[in-house]
Amino acid sequence: MYEFEYARASSVNDALSKYQSASDPSYIAGGHTLLPTMKQRLASPSHLIDISKLEDLKGIKIEDDELFIGAATTHEEVADSEIISASLPGLSDLAEGIGDPQVRARGTIGGSLANNDPAADYPAALIALDGTIQTNNREIPSNDFFVDLFETALEDGELITCVKFKIPNKSKYVKFPNPASRYAIVGVMFAEFNENKRIAVTGAGPCAFRANNIETAIAEGKEIPTLNYENFNSDIHASAEYRSHLIGVMTKRAIKLAY
Ligand SMILES: Cc1cc2nc3c(=O)[nH]c(=O)nc-3n(C[C@H](O)[C@H](O)[C@H](O)COP(=O)(O)OP(=O)(O)OC[C@H]3O[C@@H](n4cnc5c(N)ncnc54)[C@H](O)[C@@H]3O)c2cc1C
Repeated sequence: MYEFEYARASSVNDALSKYQSASDPSYIAGGHTLLPTMKQRLASPSHLIDISKLEDLKGIKIEDDELFIGAATTHEEVADSEIISASLPGLSDLAEGIGDPQVRARGTIGGSLANNDPAADYPAALIALDGTIQTNNREIPSNDFFVDLFETALEDGELITCVKFKIPNKSKYVKFPNPASRYAIVGVMFAEFNENKRIAVTGAGPCAFRANNIETAIAEGKEIPTLNYENFNSDIHASAEYRSHLIGVMTKRAIKLAY
């Protein structure tokens, strides 16, 4: 690993100011993506600004029918939250299925979304639940947040402070996990808002996406269509065609388990 400076931020403003005054900084939350990346020498920030203990980035609450989760809330805190299991059980399942206990104890929702790994679980939830990313200076709707593989709409130094989710009547997340890492080979989040059923998929393409064709078929009571897999991921774990097949299977399973 390269040498770097480490500093713990004392507030959101302190984190922003430390970021601005460093030459090539990076925020660090759980470190479960950033540190392995640094160990592999794929990233070499000059300064790590630790935001994991900031109280302003912690907490889970419901206000005006929306669920707010602070960016530095760990996967374990989401999985164990009674507020979430009572209001949005699909999100509890999702957090409970991330990695292993060590990853869940340190990894954060903000870190996962900022990283935008194509196989991460939370992006599917953000899209299906019509969520919003709140940063230090603006709100970004889920439709605009995920740009490409490991790329988001965040500007350099912009800090996610909170993630907001609309609360559906029903929700369920189901994934076909990589047996080693538990990352999603394909993961499907199903959410029902009154009569409106939303489906979002992760693991299959460069970014999580909303499966409009599947939603239409469900609304019309038709068979779930096979999605065009031309631009899907293909690797040693699963071909693009197999990922496309899994989307149909995971969707049916999610809907069945939601009721
Ligand atoms: C063995 C293993 C298995 C895993 N399995 C899964 C899995 O099954 N499903 C899954 O979804 N993920 C999985 N992960 C990833 C895990 O969830 C990570 O913790 C998560 O992706 C990153 O969160 P973090 O808090 O650790 O972020 P960090 O590693 O600290 O940071 C990641 C990136 O996000 C930036 N960042 C962090 N917080 C913020 C913020 N608030 N605002 C702006 N930028 C920010 C950092 O600067 C950095 O660029 C796994 C990881 C490991 C090591």
